[in-house]
This record gives sequence, C-alpha cells and structure tokens, in this order.
Amino acid sequence: MMLGGYTGRFLKVDLTNEKTSVEKTNEKIAGKFIGGKGLGAKILYDSVNPNTDPFNPENLVIFASGPLTGTLAPSSARWTVITKSPLTGAFLDSHVGGFFGVEMKSTGFDCLVISGKAVNPTCLWIHNDSTDFIEAEDLWGKGCLETETKLKKRLDKNVKVASIGPAGERLVRYACITADLYRQAGRGGTGAVMGAKNLKAIAVQGERKPEYAHPQEFREATKRAIKRIKEHYFTPIRRKHGTPAWVAPVNEAALLPTRNFSTGVFEGANSISGETMRNKIVVKDGACYNCPVACWKHTRVDSGKYRVNDLDGPEYETIALMGSNCGIDSIEEIAYTNLLCDDLGLDTISTGNAIAFAMECFEKKLIGKDDVGGVELRFGNIDAQVEMVQNIAYREGLGDLLAEGVKRTAEKIGKGSERFAIHVKGMEFPGYDPRGAFGMALAYATSDRGACHERAWTVNAEIRGRLEPRYSTKGRAKFVKDIQDERAMCFSLVLCDFMPLKVKHFMDLLNSATGLNLAEDEYLKTGERIWNLTRLFNVREGMTRKDDTLPARIMEEPLPDGVAKGQMITKNRFDRMLNEYYTLRGWDENGVPTREKLKELDLTT
Ligand code: SF4
Repeated sequence: MMLGGYTGRFLKVDLTNEKTSVEKTNEKIAGKFIGGKGLGAKILYDSVNPNTDPFNPENLVIFASGPLTGTLAPSSARWTVITKSPLTGAFLDSHVGGFFGVEMKSTGFDCLVISGKAVNPTCLWIHNDSTDFIEAEDLWGKGCLETETKLKKRLDKNVKVASIGPAGERLVRYACITADLYRQAGRGGTGAVMGAKNLKAIAVQGERKPEYAHPQEFREATKRAIKRIKEHYFTPIRRKHGTPAWVAPVNEAALLPTRNFSTGVFEGANSISGETMRNKIVVKDGACYNCPVACWKHTRVDSGKYRVNDLDGPEYETIALMGSNCGIDSIEEIAYTNLLCDDLGLDTISTGNAIAFAMECFEKKLIGKDDVGGVELRFGNIDAQVEMVQNIAYREGLGDLLAEGVKRTAEKIGKGSERFAIHVKGMEFPGYDPRGAFGMALAYATSDRGACHERAWTVNAEIRGRLEPRYSTKGRAKFVKDIQDERAMCFSLVLCDFMPLKVKHFMDLLNSATGLNLAEDEYLKTGERIWNLTRLFNVREGMTRKDDTLPARIMEEPLPDGVAKGQMITKNRFDRMLNEYYTLRGWDENGVPTREKLKELDLTT
C-alpha cells in the first residue's frame, strides 16, 4: 500500500505530441525526497540533461504537491513549481499558497511533470481522470487576471487556475506564474519556462481527499501545531499587518534596500509601512486554504492617478523592491505596480531590482534619455516606473534588455555598472541588505536558486540579539546550514515557511500522515539530502565556489546611514564564513559535495 498523504500517482504530460501517461509515485523515492522541492529536484536531476537550455522543450516544468498538501495540517495550501531557471541556469523551486495546489492534488496526482512544447498556445485542463489540451489562441496576450476569469467562465466557476501573462509569453527571464489571481510562483522565471512551452495556463478540478496512515495521531499532531501557532507572539502581528510588518523594523536596522541598495535607510519608510498600509488601503484580511495565521491583506485604492480595484498585497518584498529600492514612498503607488506585475506575470522582486538598477544607470549617465524612450528614469518617478514595468513585460525599448535580468543587463551596459548589479548567480536580491546582517550574505550566496531570503533567513536573529554580536560572522555558518536543511523539508512537505513551528511539529505531522516514522536525526538528514541534491544539480551545471559570491557594492561599499553605518561584508569576512559553511556541509574547498558526504546521504547512485 502507498504511504498515507500521497495520491500515489503522477501525471506526465508531453506537450509536443499532446500525450499523457500516468505513473506510480515510487514509494522508496518519496521516502527519501518526500514531495514538493525534494521530489521535484529528484525528477529534474534524473530527467534533464546537463547544459540543457532552460527554454529547450526538454526542460521540465513540474507542478508538485507534498504529502501534507490539502490535508488538515495548518497551511497545507502550499505547492511547488520546479524547473531549471532561465534566470540563473540553476535549480529552481518556487512555492505558492492559495488554493490551486489543493485542487491539483484532489485530481488524484502528486505532481504534474510537463515536457515538450505545444505547437500552438495551449491550456491544460485536468479534471479527475481526464486531461484535455485546450486551444488558447484567444488567451495568448491576455493578462493573468483575464485569463483566469475567462477560463473559469469557459470551464467551471470553481476550477483553480495557474497562468502566465505577456511577460511569460515573451520569455522575460523572471516571469512568474500567477495562480488564484494574486498568488505567485514568483522567482527565477517559472512563467518564462511555461511560455517557452506555449503553455498559457493549467486549470484543475478534482474530488479526491487525502488519506492518512494514522488518522488519530495526525489529528493530535495537527492540534498541537495549531496550538503552538496560536500561542506564538508573532502570529497576531502577522495577522494584523502581514509581511509588511517588517518594513519598520528592517528600516530601523538599516537593512531596507533603498535606491538600488545604495543605503539601508529610507526616509519615506513610514509612508510604506505595515501600519500605513493597514490604515490607508487594507479593506479586509484573508488566508490560504486551511491557514490559522491568515496573513493576506486585501487592498483597494480609490483615488489618485493609479487606482486599484482589488488586490492581495503588496507583501513586504514588493514594498521593499518596487518601493524604497526605486525611491517610491507611496503605498498606493506600490499597490498599483504590484497589481500590474501580477497581471503581466512579473516577479516584483526582480522587476524592482531591474528598474532600480536602470534608474541608477540613468542618474549616473551610463544610459541617456534616448535609451529609455525620453523618460526621466529617476528614483522616485512613479510614471517612469510604471512605463518600465510595461516595457519589460512586452520587451520594448530598454525593457527588452532589463527583461534579461540585472546580471546580463550590466554585462551589456558595462562602464562599471556590474558593481551595482545586485544579484547572486543572476537572481536579484530580496529585501534585506546583508551589509548589516552578515548571515544574509551567506544565505544569499549559498542559496540553491540564487539570492533568496526563504532558504535561510537570519535577519530576526541578528537584529534581535539571538545571534550575537550583531556585526560578526560568529555562528552564522551553522545557523544558515541548519535553517537551509529544515526549510528543505518544509518546502517538501509542503507547508508554509511562515509557520512558527518547531522541527518536532513538522515531523509529527509528516510521520502520522504518511507512516514514514522518521526519527528527528533522519528527518533533518532528509533535508540535508535534498539540499545536497540541488547542489549536485548546480555543480553539474558548472557552478562552484566562484558562483557563491556577492556583488562588489556589498563587499566594498560600507552602509552610509543608520545604526549599521560603516558596516559591510569584506571579502575576508565572507570567505571565513564560506569556508566554515563548506566544512560543516562536508563539501570540498570548491563547494563540491565530497564522496563521503554523498555516501552518508545515500546520494551516490
Ligand atoms: S501564513 Fe499567510 S502565506 Fe502562509 S499559508 Fe497562511 S495565509 Fe498563506
């Protein structure tokens, strides 16, 4: 009998030949790699040849649930998109909440493994045991919001939809997938891979319910997890303000990206804080499927030039990158560009970085008005920002270059712009300046998908005194490694990384749902195995120590303002942390997992 929690089947879709096949989920593989990130990484590693162009039809895009997706466990809405990233050329996993993942699993499949390229724009319509290839010529060119609305009208108002917008169709390297209107598989270009496959959308509807290995134990584990979440000090804060609760403390700590990471203190922070957002534009709260935290903020902007009828957001990362990092100090304007990005299918983090980078190039006269269609591309100019978002999505003018990401854009512009192209492995930074939180420097540099705050997040521990002293490398390597392994499991179950749960809670949920019965050391070892597998994927693509690095601005220019004034990650400090991290990981000095480590993790075959 299959493990509990899983459906026991996955669907393979060949878009080129419009063929599908159903395969059994391998129980042994599921036990070793769990689901979501881990299972997707295993399928990707085994199926996609090294050096495959991410836009080649042979690249896969995998939609994966986990054994806890759609169960009674808190935050079980989560699902994962796995592919080879067109932005970085590295492994990519991107996690989404909402409702799509639960519905996808209820069709009776643990994951959808999609290969090939459709001849014409196509939608997949998966409902219980049928899969239809639907013509999507009429939807091609439409935004994600219209696409979802039209598909619901055409199929059934209760179907769940994940789609791409014009940015994905035009292979913008950081195009996202939008699901449930306002939830994104945001980072790394998942939407561009769908675009390269002529796959406009996937619609799902099903009726199957998960079964548990030990139903009574699972109910008890769920109760304990919910109790812990409800009693945690941060839950009411997250419920009231959502992720924007971080704007004020991150600015006070001098880590808020401002004007292309030229400083960590934004003079307009009060105007874009969680408090301001709640007072000015939040109309109601909401939640992903089965989440006791409920961190969504539904917003509306009824006046001014840029109005928003309905939106979930903006989240902290959007506020930081589309807001302060571009010098925009209006929460209403940020909400507007957030909605625009969601509809066009753009990752707000990379888009904000790309525009901020272009603004700095413009202000430094590395590019001129002629290069940007006569626009005054200066920090704080919302009209210019709105125009740039559209130009990127449609690859017009300078937008065509910015659509390639800041790394490729800086290589083209040259003139020293590479030093302030803020990325790791080609992926643009999220909303925390690591010069005032050294652990984030290591977290960004060693993250498997490029600069990412979700693989390990040290900010709270560093600014609130859990990792002392603040401006030090002490203890950071172990902290980052442990969190990366724990998160690799969280993203494989799949549950939300915002849950304030301990390893024991996650483990009890997994064991009682599936019957896997992992002890704590085995549970963490599984996370380490998954992390090493994604590293092996990247090493096979030629990535080593030389790629685990940071832009010159971060290592050579001290923070100019605020409590962290004068701080930076020098190369010496960074190398010290990286060496310690490699040693703890059992990787050689080049960042390659040793044979002994792979043997220990049962990754040699
Ligand atoms: S904490 Fe927020 S993002 Fe996470 S599952 Fe709950 S509502 Fe969704």
